[in-house]
Amino acid sequence: MDSCACAALASRDYDVAALHVSYGQRTEDRERRAFVAICDRLGIRDRLVVRNEALRAIGGSALTDERIAVPTTPSANSEVPVTYVPFRNAHFLSVAVSWAEVLGAVRIYIGAVEPDSSGYPDCRPAYYEAFNRVIKAGTREGNIEVVTPLIAMRKAEIVQLGLELGAPFDLTWSCYSHQDQACGVCDSCVLRLRAFAAAGVTDPIPYATQARVLEI
Ligand SMILES: [Zn+2]
Repeated sequence: MDSCACAALASRDYDVAALHVSYGQRTEDRERRAFVAICDRLGIRDRLVVRNEALRAIGGSALTDERIAVPTTPSANSEVPVTYVPFRNAHFLSVAVSWAEVLGAVRIYIGAVEPDSSGYPDCRPAYYEAFNRVIKAGTREGNIEVVTPLIAMRKAEIVQLGLELGAPFDLTWSCYSHQDQACGVCDSCVLRLRAFAAAGVTDPIPYATQARVLEI
């Protein structure tokens, strides 16, 4: 939902090219279908779909290693959760920067969110500030910038923003563990359901169960 709101925001202001990366995550087929549907709805024709073989081969995350269970509650402490995929966003951004250089694009939007979110270290503002210095030093023109318009927003605010922009939340996929119907109990589903509840809006996708959220 963060990526979708971010794509809707970028589409409002710019001619957008969209990147999707499959990296061996449990729900990669469903996420790729969501990407195609969202691009269709937003009218984004220029698309790049790539596969990253490294992240699954490396493992170390509940999303890419079947031996590590997806937790059913968001982490309540400040520890990095097991759903963190080690340094994943750097892989995504590196592909995006390479493509941007070829396209002549100067802005890369990413829907990273820090407050009331998963607690991933590659969603911190300082990380993107540092990455922008890497881009400046390592590209031909040095004029490409990663922007993170959602990074300081709470999830409920992202729901509101997306609704204002007409972001197609009905086409999005957030569940970490299932591809047929969103489970409603993994940490990603719970964060999403909390966000819609806090915004006072019904999430447009169906869930297998929402028991966990009703307990909160
Ligand atoms: Zn789920």
